Amino acid sequence: MIRGKRNKAKKIKKFTHQMQAKTLLVFGVVLLLLLALVVRLTYLRNEDGERYSKKVLSQQTYSSSVIPYRRGDIIDRNGSVLATSIKVYNLILDPKTILETKTVDGAKTTPYREPTLQALTTYFDVNYDEVNQILTDKPTNQYTVLLKQLEYSEIKDFEEAMAAKGSKIQGVWFEEEYKRIYPNNTAASDIIGFTSAGNVGNWGIEQTYNSYLNGTNGREYGYFDNELNLERTVKPAVDGDTVVSTIDLNIQTIVEKHIDKFMKDIGAKNAAVIIMDPNNGEILAMASDKQYDLNDPFDLTKYYTKKEIKAMTEEERLNALYDIWKNFAIAQNYEPGSTFKPFVMAAALEEDIVEDGDHYYCDGKQTIVEGIKPIRCVNRSGHGDLTIEEAIMKSCNDVMMQVAAKMGRKTLWKYQTNYGFGRKTGIDLPGEEKGQTFAEEQLNAFELATTSFGQGLTVTMVQMASAMCATVNGGYYYTPHVVNKIQNAEGATVETKDAVLSKQVISTKTSDLLRRYLYNTVEEGTAKVAGVEGYSIGGKTGTAEKHTGEEGVYLVSFLGYAPYDNPQVVIYTIVDEVNDENQAQSSYALKLSHDIMDEIFPFLGILKDSTDDAKTASDDKSKKDDASTQTADDTTDTEEDAAQTEEESTKKEDTSSESSNEDSDEENDTENYNFLDDSADEQIKKEIESNQNQDTDEEGVE
Ligand SMILES: [Zn+2]
Repeated sequence: MIRGKRNKAKKIKKFTHQMQAKTLLVFGVVLLLLLALVVRLTYLRNEDGERYSKKVLSQQTYSSSVIPYRRGDIIDRNGSVLATSIKVYNLILDPKTILETKTVDGAKTTPYREPTLQALTTYFDVNYDEVNQILTDKPTNQYTVLLKQLEYSEIKDFEEAMAAKGSKIQGVWFEEEYKRIYPNNTAASDIIGFTSAGNVGNWGIEQTYNSYLNGTNGREYGYFDNELNLERTVKPAVDGDTVVSTIDLNIQTIVEKHIDKFMKDIGAKNAAVIIMDPNNGEILAMASDKQYDLNDPFDLTKYYTKKEIKAMTEEERLNALYDIWKNFAIAQNYEPGSTFKPFVMAAALEEDIVEDGDHYYCDGKQTIVEGIKPIRCVNRSGHGDLTIEEAIMKSCNDVMMQVAAKMGRKTLWKYQTNYGFGRKTGIDLPGEEKGQTFAEEQLNAFELATTSFGQGLTVTMVQMASAMCATVNGGYYYTPHVVNKIQNAEGATVETKDAVLSKQVISTKTSDLLRRYLYNTVEEGTAKVAGVEGYSIGGKTGTAEKHTGEEGVYLVSFLGYAPYDNPQVVIYTIVDEVNDENQAQSSYALKLSHDIMDEIFPFLGILKDSTDDAKTASDDKSKKDDASTQTADDTTDTEEDAAQTEEESTKKEDTSSESSNEDSDEENDTENYNFLDDSADEQIKKEIESNQNQDTDEEGVE
């Protein structure tokens, strides 16, 4: 018995072990399944929440709707609005709801149809029959856009009528969206750009800063719970950031006004201006004659007749649009001419190739390679003995060629590169070109010679203006830029785009000398016309003959700064192929610069000098260098020469390009030497096209 009992007990114990193992296994499997379910649910809720919500919503009658974000504003440095987005309303018809029936005395009626139709025709410019037709054609439809982009003032009265007690208006609602508007129409069009397809930035700041300007759409979810109560969940939209431009709308407007006036009075193939702050690389204004209405960017009627537009192929029309959309100041390559000379001279001074006060002799020409015709100076009979300062003042090619030859390819290439030529400046705008310079190994004697006076290489306006900033501000090269701050929708600064100092190109000592040379060029030399009474301005003219295959085609320019003591502004003006039989007159660019500076200086807080400018300058000179006192005395002659030449060139009726070259105070005689083929334009067009094809959502900054 005992044994048997023991056996039984043992048996039971054995059985319990088996049971335990089985139970554990079942429990384990269930646990694993539960765990998998939890994981799956978590995944559905968190990782794929939106899809899950949509799935839930699709099983309900009520769906979710998008709450659009507001694209951020673009404002100028003083807060003036350049681009903004206003809320507009699309009127949506819901025929199914309008046609809702009620049974009265056993008969089905549609009590909302007529009152809603009447209200629509009363408050909006819609036709009764047309709306009625929609109800007849699509009685079960719930979403038909009847009117687009209404402003709030246009829908206010209707909304009140609909909300009034006892109103029988139903089945009409307003869908919100935003509309991009540009309050100043054409102003700063090259810098601002425009949007298409809702919030896609094209050109300008709209493109470069697209990701800052755009926000994130919100969503409103609604569904009926078990008791058929409407539950709403709102995920608010995140509005886009405001982009603060360095542009000063006042200055921009003045610049554009003068370009317009110039184009009306005289006219040219192109006229363009950049105004920059040399102390940080900020662009204050940038404009060309090809401005377009940002509120209607596809309109070509400003530049073509309706007949011409009608005759265009689609490709021609796009080319014409690219032409007005592209920013001339950053996208056009051209030969700069003599405005390039100060950079070469600065390099020579910096490397002790020359010293302030050094004398050179101009005999009117320079033989570069034996057996090849010499390159002539602007003054074919020769300027005679010149200091290097006078060489800049009189724009002597001969001296520049001698200096460049002494400098050699290595140094010239180094400074050409450090000054930012032959590469993009990195300005925060799309479509920038980089110009074409000679590589170090290509800089043989001839290329050295032509580069020294700004021919044979191509540049963009923004490269030239930025290089001038570095030349006069103590030698510091700043990356040019058009935006300096990002603010959130509440106006708090979230990011600053500080001035980027890329390098010191020349020493402050060299910079001081160049400022003086350029100052005297305006005071006593070839750039006198640019002078504005009472202000101390420095600068250099350029008259570059274009290698288009045509004779006598010129691009004239002025590149200057003010005030002399403490430069606050750099101005660069170019006039391309002026409407004049004699295009080689830098006076056109000088006059345009003069008129602009005269009007913008008060806005920039640049004060008139209380002391006599010339005296200040010669005092400065005698302090720095005894030899240059001589220069100050000599300038009497220079002034006469310059004045005479200016007068001659203005009066000149002779249209032969031969004599035009001889008489022009500016510029070299490039003989029959073709430096570059003229494929630049074709390249730009290709670049623009490829830019257009790029995904405009891409961030272009930095
Ligand atoms: Zn000369």
